[in-house]
Amino acid sequence: MRDMEQTYDFILIGGGLAGQSLAWQLLQGPLRGSRIALIDLAPKSSNDRTWCFWEKDPGPFDHLVCRRWNRLQFLSPSFSKSLDISPYTYKMIRGADFYQFMETELAGAPRLDRFYGRVKKWETLADQVLVTLEDGRQIRGSWGFSSLQARPVDKERYHYLDQHFKGWVIRTDTPAFDPSAATFMDFRVPQDKGVSFLYALPLDAHRALVEITFFSNRLFTSEEYDEMLRALIPEFVTPAQYVIEHEEIGAIPMTDFPFPRSEGRVIFIGTAGGHTKPSSGYTFWRLQKNLIKLANQLERTGSPFPLPRIAPARFGLFDSTLLNVLDSGALSAGDLFADLFRHNPPARVLRFLNEETSWLEDLRIMGSVPTYPFLKAFLAELARITGANRESV
Ligand SMILES: Cc1cc2nc3c(=O)[nH]c(=O)nc-3n(C[C@H](O)[C@H](O)[C@H](O)COP(=O)(O)OP(=O)(O)OC[C@H]3O[C@@H](n4cnc5c(N)ncnc54)[C@H](O)[C@@H]3O)c2cc1C
Repeated sequence: MRDMEQTYDFILIGGGLAGQSLAWQLLQGPLRGSRIALIDLAPKSSNDRTWCFWEKDPGPFDHLVCRRWNRLQFLSPSFSKSLDISPYTYKMIRGADFYQFMETELAGAPRLDRFYGRVKKWETLADQVLVTLEDGRQIRGSWGFSSLQARPVDKERYHYLDQHFKGWVIRTDTPAFDPSAATFMDFRVPQDKGVSFLYALPLDAHRALVEITFFSNRLFTSEEYDEMLRALIPEFVTPAQYVIEHEEIGAIPMTDFPFPRSEGRVIFIGTAGGHTKPSSGYTFWRLQKNLIKLANQLERTGSPFPLPRIAPARFGLFDSTLLNVLDSGALSAGDLFADLFRHNPPARVLRFLNEETSWLEDLRIMGSVPTYPFLKAFLAELARITGANRESV
């Protein structure tokens, strides 16, 4: 076995969104001179995903934002509205642009090494982390930050839905899209294969990213999503002839499973660290916010512990309640979002999903959805959480 001589301050186990973002955050401040190892399977360059999120202020990656919208369309059989989301802006970053930016930034870091290979295991030995790759290389460091999951989600005890989707970037010869408004959710599509909606982001008058998205436990083959997109686009997006320029496919876990936050000197980040919002699947903004807190903590104290809280505890209870309602089928996602957008200013809903609302606003949000299924789910989740807390004492 070949042992790498060097000992690193930080080892990033997995160099996707979370690993690259944390490495970059660490390079922005006094920890810039740290010895950092970043491990991934292979260099990243393909446009394997598009990240969208909303925020009020300019974010750290604003210069990478390729499209932005101030209006979002919500459409459902019972309620449709063009939503003015100010003071928020809905932003889009292409994966390829993000990876390219990181490639350049990280190449300029004074003491960052990249390793390509499959991580086999990691262990904490006294005050060190030892990471072993499948080819036998070993990397030592003071702290590890892993975006690889420590153990699978317990789908029996916790709510679990996949947000699964496939999207095409389509181009038309004639102008077919209004680039000023994105379709956030269109629930008017058939619901016979599970709760689903169309998501359509116009890139300009001729091009749009169109995705069919499901909240369910039944994933489809790539060809099955293709068939659905082919049928839905002429009816719900554009009757114009189009060609497909690009496609993306994915599944994001929507779960209240308590992802372990750490294991010895390894701290979990990204989806594996619970940075994905359980009830919406949105990750990009929440992950960046949490990695900034983590980097600040490391700068201040030299240790990631005590780990900064991901979000105020009450939002965990709201997530479980929403997942309970969706999971049980007590209310369809279309009706739920219709109620939220019918009775609240759009910014309040977005603020709630970003976990930035006040108690008073939370009460208003709760007052805008049907009382019976929500109160029932809320009390069930409250009992489950307090029961679990009692068990763990
Ligand atoms: C197609 C798609 C679109 C999405 N769109 C949005 C969106 O619009 N908005 C939003 O907020 N979120 C979105 N998400 C969710 C979320 O933002 C992404 O999944 C995000 O990439 C999660 O970051 P991560 O670092 O946790 O995981 P990843 O970015 O997947 O990084 C994990 C890394 O670990 C590496 N790896 C895995 N196994 C090993 C191993 N054994 N050894 C070494 N390396 C390994 C992988 O190569 C990968 O680079 C999307 C997800 C997908 C899949």
